[in-house]
Amino acid sequence: MNRVDRRIARLLPAPYSAKTKIDSNNVPAGGYRIERQGTHFLITAESEQSLFFGGIRLLEEFGFRHLIPGSSGRTLPTKKRAPSFKVIAEAPTFLYRGYHVCGHSHYNQNAVVWMSANRMNFKPCHNPEVPQDLPKLQKNFLTTICFGHSYAEWIPREDFFKSHPDFFPLIGEKRAPSGGGQLCFANPRLKEILEERIGRFMDRFPEVKVISFMPNDGLGWCECASCQKRDTVLEKKQKKVSTRVFGYTEEIAKAVTKERSDRFLGTGAYNNYSDPPKDLPLMKNVAISLTTGARCLKHAITDPSCPSNREYLARTEAFTKKTGMVIFSEYYFASSWRIFPLPILTSLRETYRHLAAIGVKGVKSEVVPGSAWDPLKITLYGVARLLWNPESSIEEIYKDFTFHYFGKKWKVFFDFYYGLEEALQKMPGCFFLKKQEALPLFQHLDLHKVYRSFQQAYTEEGDPVIKKRIRTELSHLKVWEEVLAKLATQEETNYPVAPGKPSSRDGRASFELTERASLLPFPSRVYFIAGYDDKGLHLRFETKTKEIKRLQKIPFTPHSGDVFLMDGIELFLVAGKPGNDYFQFAFSPAGHSYSSRCTHKPLHFDTSFQPDIIVKNSFPSSQWVCEVTLPWKVFNRKKAEKGEVWHGSFCKKERRKLSHILGGWPSGGAYHSPKEFGSLTFL
Ligand SMILES: [Zn+2]
Ligand SMILES: [Zn+2]
Repeated sequence: MNRVDRRIARLLPAPYSAKTKIDSNNVPAGGYRIERQGTHFLITAESEQSLFFGGIRLLEEFGFRHLIPGSSGRTLPTKKRAPSFKVIAEAPTFLYRGYHVCGHSHYNQNAVVWMSANRMNFKPCHNPEVPQDLPKLQKNFLTTICFGHSYAEWIPREDFFKSHPDFFPLIGEKRAPSGGGQLCFANPRLKEILEERIGRFMDRFPEVKVISFMPNDGLGWCECASCQKRDTVLEKKQKKVSTRVFGYTEEIAKAVTKERSDRFLGTGAYNNYSDPPKDLPLMKNVAISLTTGARCLKHAITDPSCPSNREYLARTEAFTKKTGMVIFSEYYFASSWRIFPLPILTSLRETYRHLAAIGVKGVKSEVVPGSAWDPLKITLYGVARLLWNPESSIEEIYKDFTFHYFGKKWKVFFDFYYGLEEALQKMPGCFFLKKQEALPLFQHLDLHKVYRSFQQAYTEEGDPVIKKRIRTELSHLKVWEEVLAKLATQEETNYPVAPGKPSSRDGRASFELTERASLLPFPSRVYFIAGYDDKGLHLRFETKTKEIKRLQKIPFTPHSGDVFLMDGIELFLVAGKPGNDYFQFAFSPAGHSYSSRCTHKPLHFDTSFQPDIIVKNSFPSSQWVCEVTLPWKVFNRKKAEKGEVWHGSFCKKERRKLSHILGGWPSGGAYHSPKEFGSLTFL
């Protein structure tokens, strides 16, 4: 018995039995063939992974479903539903179907098991995660392909800057004066080193078909004559670098895939290299992850009435003609939409059908494991089914999920969830996963009535597992009601900055930071207070928490950017009206202090700016108090005048077991979004 046989045998009810056979005859490419011989089933496929998916498909005929991650999210096969088919022969529409797991380690066992039980076949990784993650993925019949910023992984500054400063970008007169930045492509020795390193990595992991070679995050492009010669005249004018980036990627790809023809170099279309390069020929062994950021998810990508999707469609079509593999990278979890259901399967179905037709090879989305999965569960389940077969009916997907998940009174839940799917399609305009859009989406509903019908279902249900699921639904409804009420009230977006350095309870205004997705308080409630004097702007953040010991134990590290890996306060400020330039600061309980000068479009951070900021952390009675003084000099000012109005946003990150919570003021935090900053009026 092989390991797939064992897995199936464990779940298949008696008297049925199954056997698997690796064979590519008679089997649709990438799929499986299941043949019934009385009470025995023979599954044939060309790989172990496809055999496993065939086994899953067979078990589904007996009622097996893995609906949400974790063993309590499964329904087990029963004899009652003996199948009547003779042969099932199926293959997936997309070659790559997977979720990118957000959170601390980019790995979550429950999510991985769920993915393989829903016939998704990969979890994306960053190159350095492959040695650790690939064996765990393979145990679950999954594989990986790699994307993500990676120049610095191949050519680390600490290893090469001393011996080869010319590998690093020439900016102004100097070779990369600060950290970050890209590579200089002029020296042929760099290419030799890259080819050698990437080739060696490919040989070490022959199962991983795509290895990442993508520019570092941010800008910092080389200004030397040789690099600039790679840009077209138009690109020089528009400060874009597509031809340079993709041209060089193709040169490396050609070299490393000469004797490894089934492999790809993975890169992204991003920032100022998001346009396809016009003058380059087909890049056969380049794979591209096309990130879609803030696209409208109510309309299909082909919907001519949607202005938001047009540019994504044009870019996707262009890249499928330019590169050997396009992976469409979506965001079905948005920091501002993760407590409400996400009824977007109608538009996704159309989008996937078109992507498949134009030759897109895969689709992935970011997901957040743990409790954040639950409100989005039907969408995440439906995506897996649509990526296997985008012809599936949306109504059937909702029926299938609610029938297997909610027991006897499943219809009540079907009506509610499928009703939202229909309501979104009827809603005017686009849908960008902004929490305010929940108001029109829920408008047609009487949540009290829904609550009563769910409660009725709860009373009538006997199965304790299903009862627990319905209890979760009831608690969702409570939260939705509370959040909708919050969303309907006007938030105070002007903070009055009174003279003097603030201390606790000195009578000045104290505003609460709220969770980004819900506008509800953080589990550890957090407030800010501001004041000013001759020295500068004083800010005081008070976090009331049960986790004071954990916060006090966070270790200090010399790299200030580490603040983004832990609990921290983050602020965005402009001394005046918001525009393209603003400051970002971040502070941790361990004493990290991060500052950068940012531009909004393109998004860029200059961290060489190191102002003298005074930060004091203290931990009086179950509180973390972070006091910050930003001297006027930081903003190139002598002082703020009475009556003057500045703009900014104060944010907080609270670490939870599997991921973290973001939030802030105003509107749950206006991260890097100057347009949404609140105002600070100096009294
Ligand atoms: Zn250069
Ligand atoms: Zn739209």
